[in-house]
Amino acid sequence: MKKKISVVVSCYNEEESIPLFYKEIKKIEKEMNYVDFEYIFVNDGSRDNTINIIKKLNKKDKKVRYVSFSRNFGKEAAMLAGLEASKGDYVTLMDADLQDPPALLPKMYNYIIKENYDCVGTRRVTRKGEPPIRSFFARCFYKLINKMSKVEMVDGARDYRLMTRQMVDSIINMKEYNRYSKGLFSFVGFDTKWLEYENVERVAGETKWNFWKLFKYAIEGIIAFTTAPLSISAFLGILMCFISFIAIIAIIIKKVLIGDPVSGWPSLVCIILFVSGIQLFCIGIIGQYLAKTYLETKNRPVYIVKETEEDNK
Ligand code: UDP
Ligand code: MG
Repeated sequence: MKKKISVVVSCYNEEESIPLFYKEIKKIEKEMNYVDFEYIFVNDGSRDNTINIIKKLNKKDKKVRYVSFSRNFGKEAAMLAGLEASKGDYVTLMDADLQDPPALLPKMYNYIIKENYDCVGTRRVTRKGEPPIRSFFARCFYKLINKMSKVEMVDGARDYRLMTRQMVDSIINMKEYNRYSKGLFSFVGFDTKWLEYENVERVAGETKWNFWKLFKYAIEGIIAFTTAPLSISAFLGILMCFISFIAIIAIIIKKVLIGDPVSGWPSLVCIILFVSGIQLFCIGIIGQYLAKTYLETKNRPVYIVKETEEDNK
């Protein structure tokens, strides 16, 4: 029996890209006639015509399935919904904008079949077409998180990957609400082969990311995969105690030796500002973790489905 690959595509306002994407992936389907395909388009609460385009594809091609959300839940949620809906022996996650070249798929499949990898991931080796300042911060982020977290995050790794059913199931089984999939993929382990390729610019439409969103996403990654900031704030606390202990001794000695002329107001203000700054910073860190814990304990669903292909018959 032929094996089946599920192609999961998360779409948010991708009316222009989807037809182009569909054309490309169909070429690959023809080329890989030794496997079956199914497509799962996840409509992440798009505000444009995306859902109608997907429905049309579903009408003419029964391999096209879809899941449509009740609102925008974000790409992480869309990927999870796609993985949960997928039925194939292998699952690949792709963007609709053709930034994840479908042409790599045969090669990825070969690595899994012939060399027994559980997962083939892709990483961009260049960040061509990206603002230099963003690339700089991205590099800093990966250095930082890899120092702090035991889970390895690969710089330039994309969500585009082909995985075995076993790996997909273990990812679905991670029931956390704050999903940072780059971390989840490496947390579950398994043998991953990395394919490298040059950055490709999106075919149509616009990126949904801006600097601020990426920054928040980076903080989420840190909070989700390491508690090092908590240890750092504890360390800062100990350091401050130590410094104040030395300062107290110095002040006592000074008082005994030279008396106590009233002066030193500026230095006092500086110290108060500095220490209260550190305190607020540490409380902020604790607050971040607390907030995430709060969201986890609510046990809200990661996404809410409005309709699927079953409703389009
Ligand atoms: N996407 C999504 N939900 C969102 C934002 C993005 O499903 O809230 C999808 C989007 O349609 C695309 C993929 O995630 O298929 C990657 O988005 P984008 O191209 O904007 O990100 P970039 O490639 O610039 O990192
Ligand atoms: Mg893109």
